[in-house]
Amino acid sequence: MKAEIISIGTELLLGTILNTNSALLSQRLAGLGIDVYHHITVGDNPSRLNEAIRRSLSRSDIVITTGGLGPTVDDITTETIATLAGKNLILNKVVIKDLRDYFKLRKLEPPPDCARQAYIPEGAKWIRNAVGTAPGLIMEYGGKTIIALPGPPRELGPMFERDIIPYLKTRFESSWTIKSHTIKTTGLAESQVNHLVKAILKLEPPTTVGIYAKLGEVDLRIMTKAKDKRSADKAIIAIEKKIRLKLRGYIFGYDDETLEEAVAKSLIKERKTIAVAESCTGGFLSSRLTNVSGSSRYFVMSVIAYSNASKVNILGVSESDIDKHGAVSRDVAIQMAKGIKRLACVDIGIGITGIAGPGGGTKNKPVGLVYIALVSCRKTLVREIRFRGSREEIKFQASQVALDLLRRTIRQLPS
Ligand code: ATP
Repeated sequence: MKAEIISIGTELLLGTILNTNSALLSQRLAGLGIDVYHHITVGDNPSRLNEAIRRSLSRSDIVITTGGLGPTVDDITTETIATLAGKNLILNKVVIKDLRDYFKLRKLEPPPDCARQAYIPEGAKWIRNAVGTAPGLIMEYGGKTIIALPGPPRELGPMFERDIIPYLKTRFESSWTIKSHTIKTTGLAESQVNHLVKAILKLEPPTTVGIYAKLGEVDLRIMTKAKDKRSADKAIIAIEKKIRLKLRGYIFGYDDETLEEAVAKSLIKERKTIAVAESCTGGFLSSRLTNVSGSSRYFVMSVIAYSNASKVNILGVSESDIDKHGAVSRDVAIQMAKGIKRLACVDIGIGITGIAGPGGGTKNKPVGLVYIALVSCRKTLVREIRFRGSREEIKFQASQVALDLLRRTIRQLPS
């Protein structure tokens, strides 16, 4: 089964917005075992959109469009699909009532053009938009399926999950079960992961393993196709076992789990508390740690000690050590971690100091140099790392290493 995604919007062509919809749809379609061979982007232009849909229909079974379903004149998707299929647009009474209710509930006057969204091509199924106003569409045409989804990702995502996936599953029911499972690692570069699992990667279809490198993380995705769920699970478990043996210690989670969630789980399980003193990461680590619901069970406090004075006055870092070693140094990172641990009375204190750039680097202390210290009742650990990348990327990578250090430490602490 082949699908194609057409993203509609002049903003996409101009590069003012990033096309996240096609990425999400491709990922979800792959999970359903539907191949996506083409992503197309067209502006808000009826004839070019018409041509794009025609071409996609000629080579794919399912064509999914995103965007252009709104009430304004540049929202041309519904009309173009109707014209292409030779269908009339019919005012749908349920949709119009839905739209009126939407505005009434918000105590707003419906805009004059709002009824445009209630015209549905004859024979098409409309999909209620649980978040916004533009309904989605499903239309069978010439043995192919056209699906039109709204542009805003917060509207498209829920509609795809709630309505389109069940539709695709029933409409294109396959005798095959396709399963994927992602193993998430941190602490190794892509080439190191590749080297360790090289032999396992040489699998023959229907089971394959792909390596996907992200910033501070390398994922391995196992994909398999089998006659039933049990056989698919069995194939995945067998490969996972082999990968686990090779990458033991670097694996922090599976599928959608984030590193901060994995750390949170361990902190809660071991009943440990933490506090953070951040300089160059400016609160980014604290933000990631508190992104997890229930973080108050382990996260006590953080201090963003950016200036030397705040490092000295709040965290008790020695002024003479700052003079001697510099604010970006091993000693200062350790004293920041010790200071916050003492101040917050926690099991683990973390200190981060570094140069996020792009300015401020020297020959001895270049941009990207970061010291990350972790102090617990057991030991004091410190990492000196030279990250590469933009200011944001350096901040992210520093937080990633700190979380990884934390993940490895929690397991070794006495209960
Ligand atoms: P609405 O009327 O609710 O805005 P729509 O279907 O008409 O829905 P568009 O007007 O095409 O949607 O896009 C609305 C906004 O959605 C865009 O300004 C952009 O912020 C976001 N958006 C559209 N397409 C994409 C895409 N492919 N990826 C990410 N965001 C997108």
